[in-house]
Amino acid sequence: MAKVLIIGAGGVSGVVVHKCAQLPDVFSEIVLASRTESKCKAIAAQLNRPIKTAQVDADNVPQLVALINAEKPDLVINVALPYQDLTIMDACLEAGVDYLDTANYEPLDTAKFEYSWQWAYQDKFKTAGLTALLGSGFDPGVTNVYTAYLKKHYFDEIHYLDIIDCNAGDHGLPFATNFNPEINIREVTANGRYWENGAWVDTPPLSINQVFDFPAEIGPKKIYMMYHEELESLVKYFPEIKRARFWMTFSDNYLKHLEVLGNVGMTGIEPVMFEGREIVPLQFLKALLPDPASLGPLTKGKTCIGCFAQGVKDGKPVAMFVYNVCDHQECYREVKSQAISYTTGVPAMIGAKMILEGKWKKPGVWNMEQYDPDPFMEDLNKYGLPWQVVEVDPSAIEG
Ligand code: NDP
Repeated sequence: MAKVLIIGAGGVSGVVVHKCAQLPDVFSEIVLASRTESKCKAIAAQLNRPIKTAQVDADNVPQLVALINAEKPDLVINVALPYQDLTIMDACLEAGVDYLDTANYEPLDTAKFEYSWQWAYQDKFKTAGLTALLGSGFDPGVTNVYTAYLKKHYFDEIHYLDIIDCNAGDHGLPFATNFNPEINIREVTANGRYWENGAWVDTPPLSINQVFDFPAEIGPKKIYMMYHEELESLVKYFPEIKRARFWMTFSDNYLKHLEVLGNVGMTGIEPVMFEGREIVPLQFLKALLPDPASLGPLTKGKTCIGCFAQGVKDGKPVAMFVYNVCDHQECYREVKSQAISYTTGVPAMIGAKMILEGKWKKPGVWNMEQYDPDPFMEDLNKYGLPWQVVEVDPSAIEG
């Protein structure tokens, strides 16, 4: 029996709130707060049990502390934007409450994400006796847990890790992003980066690709290498990894739109003067693009996200693929949301459950792979993200 404060009321939040509301024995009270309270109320209206809503500016620490002190939650779930991670962590420290998020901190004015800012809170959370769980979405999140699970049960050492994220769904719109457009475009247009023999190798954006044959009737799709935040913690906590890469599928249509928008300067994050005031092109573009939360009823098809690992067990070479397949329309039927928000929101709920049940609770700042993967993997099967683990031919992915 615990009370949670969920901050942010976008696509991912809708799923987190639905999934927490489905487990009243764990999440006995839910408060949903965001910048625009009407969005909290719209989510609350979809549920069959009452929750409380509130307005909060999560960039403002005193406002957050006042809300936390008034509500006294056992845990704060941050599903606002990565820009708010540090202010919400500061407020949790001041008010004495545990913290969870799904994406690492990113400064608003630099398209750069890394864990250093949040790892710097390690001593503060430890001294305060509080738990902060970082990156409890799918990728990062489940992919970190998958890696820890493979290591625990199938490998003595993982040498090559490829995280592969496929959205084979189609929303039928000319151009839309599946989660916050600003964060999504900042991520996709950044340089690629992978880990090899103890060092990071940078590549021009989306310059390396190959075809991967996905399971569950998805079939062969082109995957593009890019940088993703879980690579940073995974190579830190599994130092035996010689090479770690992250791949994502994109349709030709998505890439063409992105190229044109980039060429005309619409994806820039430097402010430009327009009719006497400064605007940031990417923020203006976000205002024009469909709200990801609105894609739920439109999107058909499946997603498949997994970890392809190669290494050794008892001196013999091993290659395994652990993955989940999720259907956009089934997600919509259950929680009125497409699969990208669903695959992020379910692990956020499970991470929260792990903390509240004391299974993943210890003072400090933790990445998902630092905990025992087994209870989390069990809950993925129970709460909507069942997984498969299969032996694979290493040549299924190019070196
Ligand atoms: P949305 O843009 O749909 O929702 C973000 C919400 O945060 C909105 O309700 C927004 O308010 C609110 N918000 C923004 N700024 C503030 C603020 N200063 N104070 C209070 N509320 C604020 O994003 P998504 O739901 O798509 O993404 C949520 C998070 O999930 C992001 O951090 C994203 O990076 C992460 N994510 C993680 C994934 C993973 O697998 N790990 C995958 C996908 C997303 P308003 O409605 O007023 O704009």
